[in-house]
Amino acid sequence: MRKTALITGVTGQDGYYLSRLLLGKGYRVVGLIPPARKSSIAKLGQLAEQIETYIVDLTNADWLTEAVEQLQPTEIYNLAAPSFVPRSWEDPLGTLDLVTGTATRLLKATRQLGLSTRFYQASSSEIFGDVQSAPQTDETTFRPKNPYGAAKLHAHWTMVHHRDRYNLFACSGILYNHESPRRPPQFVTRKISLAAASIKLGLSDQLSIGNLDAKRDWGYAGDHVEAMWRMLQADTPEDYVIGTGVLHTVRDLVATAFDCVGLDWQKYVASDPSLIREDEHFQLVADPSKANQNLGWQPQVSFEQLISKMVNADLERLKAGDIKPSGATLKAQTEAQTEAQTEAQIKNT
Ligand code: NAP
Repeated sequence: MRKTALITGVTGQDGYYLSRLLLGKGYRVVGLIPPARKSSIAKLGQLAEQIETYIVDLTNADWLTEAVEQLQPTEIYNLAAPSFVPRSWEDPLGTLDLVTGTATRLLKATRQLGLSTRFYQASSSEIFGDVQSAPQTDETTFRPKNPYGAAKLHAHWTMVHHRDRYNLFACSGILYNHESPRRPPQFVTRKISLAAASIKLGLSDQLSIGNLDAKRDWGYAGDHVEAMWRMLQADTPEDYVIGTGVLHTVRDLVATAFDCVGLDWQKYVASDPSLIREDEHFQLVADPSKANQNLGWQPQVSFEQLISKMVNADLERLKAGDIKPSGATLKAQTEAQTEAQTEAQIKNT
């Protein structure tokens, strides 16, 4: 029988790659979309024609239960979240309700309806937060340090409690940064790919950036959604840390992006001291060995290939006039740096 996958957050980066993967495997894919976000469906482009959409308010338990009852999903992927971490300081309660509330409502619905639906919770390396050791596994202590991380951790524990108490097949994927040409432009990877492409085309002339030595575990979204799917095909429900296990600096990222367009980054990139912040002692970096062993999961796209995909996509989009170039002076910063600024603004108000 044809499997049905139900996805919240289907219109985001991961929703796109996951839908594509599942459609390729013959799934019926249904996106749960809140009424106020119907227009986001356009972001899926041609893929929108191949997936079904079900309009539902994710904060309304009855409506959500009705959706689950009607759709009888084989698998649920709960991806919806305001994924730009600094913004969670602006609405901590809204973040908690969306992230934890949606997970709770979906888990409760499947349990009450007596379905054997397999459930994936999109967790995040942000639940490790203020790390005291590296690399991290799913056994590492959780010490979130922002409302986004706290909400993801609450959703994680809610899922664990439902799994233990009701014997549900539910898992958390604790994912590290993963990128693609579909990454929204406020993220540092996309800011840099857009800057390199804009400068190459003569549409911009400078990139101003914060800490070039900041390090991240950056992977490719297409690889990471494969891990989500594999988690739900396993014999037992378990949580997994999903990342490349390799750290790159922002400097590596900038150099690679400018290399893709044949430019010497040092001529165009200025480090803005106001955006620099002390680097953490321990880094957020995955130990993906459990996923390697149990799921046979390995990233397929290298860091260089990922950045090249992003820069080339931005070049094409700029040439086609589909997106606007970055301004003459571009501000790029890691999410952590933006977070530091947001915190400072909040303290000043
Ligand atoms: P994304 O591109 O930002 O997509 C987020 C999705 O959530 C979109 O469909 C968005 O709808 C929806 N959404 C946002 N705010 C919402 C709200 N208030 N109510 C209902 N829906 C809302 O994120 P992503 O990169 O695909 O990430 C997918 C999931 O993985 C998220 O839960 C994220 O927190 C988690 N994650 C991501 C990363 C990463 O590096 N990408 C790492 C760890 C964990 P619109 O399209 O209408 O905005």
